Amino acid sequence: MTDLLKNPIFKDETTAREWLEARVWPEGPTCPHCGNADQGKIRGLQGKAHRPGLYQCAECREQFTVTVKTVFERSKIPLTKWLAALFLMTASKKGVSAHQVHRMLGISYKSTWFMMHRLREAMRSGGLEPLGGRGKVVEADETYFGRADDMHVSKQRHGRPYTKRGHIFNNRPILALVERGGQVRSFHVAVADQSTVCNIVRENVERETHVHTDESKLYVQGLMDVRRHRKVKHTAGEYVRGDVTTNTVENYFSVFKRGMRGVYQHCSEKHLHRYLAEFDFRYNNRAALGTNDLMRAETLATGIVGKRLTYRRPHQA
Ligand SMILES: [Zn+2]
Repeated sequence: MTDLLKNPIFKDETTAREWLEARVWPEGPTCPHCGNADQGKIRGLQGKAHRPGLYQCAECREQFTVTVKTVFERSKIPLTKWLAALFLMTASKKGVSAHQVHRMLGISYKSTWFMMHRLREAMRSGGLEPLGGRGKVVEADETYFGRADDMHVSKQRHGRPYTKRGHIFNNRPILALVERGGQVRSFHVAVADQSTVCNIVRENVERETHVHTDESKLYVQGLMDVRRHRKVKHTAGEYVRGDVTTNTVENYFSVFKRGMRGVYQHCSEKHLHRYLAEFDFRYNNRAALGTNDLMRAETLATGIVGKRLTYRRPHQA
């Protein structure tokens, strides 16, 4: 992995900026303020009076650089370090810890931590096409990871906490949908109940899809509004029946849990969705789908646009 960092884009600030510009603006600079992409109406500002990489838009008169309105915005960290962190995160199969990146890049742990969360935000995919379709299978399953920060109370139990086999059960539920041979989409939900789970399936899975689950009562065909719903009975020791199985989604969960335990020991609940975004990103850009390390890094570089962290940061990265 140290070999990876020998590329000049990790050493020279101008080379780093040009690499990023070519990814974010394949057709030439675009004004992030008004959307103007007319190259005749965008001018590079050169000379000592301007910071490098500054452009002026003739349409709205605003100035911009490639990092304006991206997750890199207003960062004091050099672009060479940002790109190094981006490549490290996308090249490692199981994820990489903030401690490791901090040591490799020689920037503070705190700055590294914020950089990595911003990059996870760039990995988040939103507003995508639904999964599945005619003749396709989507496996749905839920799991639990870590303790929730707030006690969840049950309406049926008149405001008392949920219990499972007599113990208070307050873990963080995660729902994942995996299209077989395709993409995953996972969700950290407040409570995994029937309406939450079925709504997510309905909103993210194409109607003509066959959905496979275990025998859980959470999944109801009518509420999910899908063509077919088939179940395997795990309680009866059944894991595969014909092509009915939830092995793909369960494998996804086991990769997630192993990674979280090995690399990210501490994860507060409010950041769980960002770690999920990172594991989703890695799965959706996996080698089996024809993606290599460079393509994965390039995909992430294009994902920095139009996203910002919404939680308050005590320090600027
Ligand atoms: Zn403009």
